[in-house]
This record gives sequence, C-alpha cells and structure tokens, in this order.
Amino acid sequence: MTSPVWHPFFQHGLNEPIPHVERAEGALLYLADGRTLIDGISSWWVTTHGHCHPRIAAAIADQAGRLDQLIFAGYTHGPAEDVARGLVDLAPRAADRDPLAHVFFSDSGSTAVEVALKMALGYWHNLALDGLAEARHRILVLQHSYHGDTIGTMSVGERGVYNAAWSPLLFDVDTIPFPYEGQEQATLDALRAACAQRPAAFIVEPLILGAGGMLIYPAPVLREMAAICARYDVLFIADEVMTGWGRTGTLFACEQAGVVPDIMAVAKGITGGAIPLAATLATPRIFDAHKSTDRARLFYHSSSYTANAIACAAAVANLAIWREEDVPGRIAALSRGMAERLERLARHPAFANPRQLGAIAAIDLIAPDAGYLSGLAPRLRAFAQENGVLLRPLGNTIYLMPPYCLDADQLDHVFAVLQKAGETFGAAA
Ligand SMILES: *Cc1c(COP(=O)(O)O)cnc(C)c1O
Repeated sequence: MTSPVWHPFFQHGLNEPIPHVERAEGALLYLADGRTLIDGISSWWVTTHGHCHPRIAAAIADQAGRLDQLIFAGYTHGPAEDVARGLVDLAPRAADRDPLAHVFFSDSGSTAVEVALKMALGYWHNLALDGLAEARHRILVLQHSYHGDTIGTMSVGERGVYNAAWSPLLFDVDTIPFPYEGQEQATLDALRAACAQRPAAFIVEPLILGAGGMLIYPAPVLREMAAICARYDVLFIADEVMTGWGRTGTLFACEQAGVVPDIMAVAKGITGGAIPLAATLATPRIFDAHKSTDRARLFYHSSSYTANAIACAAAVANLAIWREEDVPGRIAALSRGMAERLERLARHPAFANPRQLGAIAAIDLIAPDAGYLSGLAPRLRAFAQENGVLLRPLGNTIYLMPPYCLDADQLDHVFAVLQKAGETFGAAA
C-alpha cells in the first residue's frame, strides 16, 4: 500500500526505500525489519544526549498529565518561566555587553530566526517612530548561510536549487563573502563597507556554517565581525540553532569568541532533541524598543503552540542535565575520539579537507561527479544505511554530528563505514 505521507527534502519519484523506525534509545534507531542504525547525525542535528533520555522522557510524561498547552499571550506557566530563566543564566555574557535578558518562545529554528529578524526590524521601526533613528530595513548575511526554509529565512540564506522556485519573492539582502582561510580580511572589509550603509542587522551562524557544507571559520573572525557591527550600531544576530547545546564544544559557539549577540536564536537541542521548541533571546534595548503604553508597538508575533508546556518541561529537564551532569566532559571525550579517527581516515587518498569543531566532524570525498544534484549524496546515504549508519552527506561532504552518548565501539563502526565508502565511491578507487 502506498503511503499518503509527503516527506521533506525527499524525491518520491526515485522510489528510494523509506526505513520504518519503531523506537530509539541512546545513539541507536531500531527498525521495523529488525535492523538497527547508529544515528550519526543526531536525527538531523537535534538529539544531543541520546534518544529517549530517561530524564527528558519522564519530564514530558509528568507534564503531559499536569498542564499540556496554554495560550501564551498574557498567560504564563512554571516550565516556561524556568526555561527562560535558565536560558538567560546560561547565555553568552561579557562584562562590557548588555546581557541577553529576554526570551521569546516559538516552535522551530526557522521561526526563531524569523522572530529574530522581526525583532531587529521592529527595533529600528519603533526607534524611527520616536525620531531616535532612521528606519533601517536591510539585512546583511554571510555567503553560504542557512537559516531555515520559510520565506524570510530563505531570504537570508544561500540561494540555489533548493529555493529557486520562490526566489522572485525572497527579499534582497547584502551578502558578505565567507571568511575562507587566508581571505578573512576581505570578509571583514566587506562587512565594514556594508555596515557603513546602515543596515538593520547582520545575521550569522557562529563558527560553523552547517547546511552550507560544514564550513568552519575561526573565533577571532567571529569576534571581529561582532565588533564591527557594534562599532556601526548594526544589530548582531547569532543563529545558534545548530551550533547551540554543545555541538561546537561549548554550550554556545559565541562563547568561544567572547561574543554576546544582540539577538540569539536557539532551537534543535533545546529539549535535548525530544520535542519541538525554540527561543529567541534579546538584549534589553531590543525589548525596551517594543515596551510602551502604545499597543501599536507590541511585538506582533505568535504561533498557537508558543511555549507549549510539555515542550518547556522537556527543556527544563535538558537544562538540568547541563547543570548537573558533566556534559562538556562527555563532548570533549567524543571529540577526541572523533579527532583520532578522522586523522586516520584523512590518510586515505579518497578523502580531503578533514575538519572538526567540537563534536562535529566533516571530510570531503573526492569523487568523479560530486555536484549537489549528482546523486552522490543519496548513494552515500543508502550505502551508510545498508551498513548500519544513518548519515546524510551534503554533496560530497560527509559529516558526523552524533549524540554525545555515542560510545567507542559505535564510533569505530561509523568510521569503518566511512573508510569503506571512500574505497567504494572515491575517485582513487
Ligand atoms: C536547522 C537550522 C535552522 C532551521 O531550524 P528548523 O527547526 O529546521 O526550522 C536554522 N538555522 C540553522 C543554522 C539551522 O541549522
């Protein structure tokens, strides 16, 4: 029987098999046909501590019987208050910067970024109403960025085949070149020139661009980009949707650069990856620009499930895990394990450009035809699946972003599959 389900980022016309997963635990997915898969990409970058973490599952079950869902416009509940306070406590901070003191909830990374953009534009709009600044509408973006799949977030992301159908509707942005090694100064110069034109904000994925190909750039460049924005009074928006929750080795990537953004979007791992929730954090000046006795200035954004109590309870449990357990130690051990094996893998002639940041590792496969639509990535995906690993390469870039509970044996298995993939698909084969 054919299924009515229409899958995301999936070409149904190719009749590729769609594995049916019945349950998951730790780093393992259990399929209906009895096979298991090691989840090498945290089920698309969300699962942090492992699937069905007992503390998070218990918090969800408990909250589901107490308060499930509540209108959040003008009402509140304990789990939301606790998550908000926890986020403010854990957010990047610096003595010379305003703190991220306000938390706005939503349901996905895309909406958290939409909210960030709307906050930035609302800030300048409301300042202009008071004659305190000129209205600013333009957004600066970094080349190769990804910020989501809604119209607004596609507008601030890289244009390509994945958004060509809607490109006439996407709003114009100014693009700063990616700071490739040796070209950092060109990036900073371009940002400085663009900031002089008084845009509203600059949005950036800190330290690593995920969907753009796991492109890493150094912390001092991030730090200097934030400093330039501050100098020109351009709002600095950090999209920590992927980088947050320990992926880069620290809770948030901005910490490594000593950067406190004006606005920060978090999602994915905020509940440990168990249930959808997102948040956009803002400094007092962003909040205060919307605070007034004038109803016309309130922040016009909401979705039905804003701050869903069950999702917030999961996030509270996740924050407790971060506070009470040695998560950074686990991430550091996993990172070391990945680094050793990546170094060995990189000696194989089929691979090039190994790179790693925290618990994210990537390497490029040198293959005869490696373009985005060449079909290499789906073939690699199928190959990994047949060999017991869930991977989702980006073109010829194979990356790992596993849950932090992945053990040494599982890591060995994953790297053995990568080695085999190199031997099977690499140009040198
Ligand atoms: C995944 C991602 C998003 C979008 O998050 P969704 O929850 O999928 O909407 C935004 N920004 C970055 C950097 C991401 O990796």
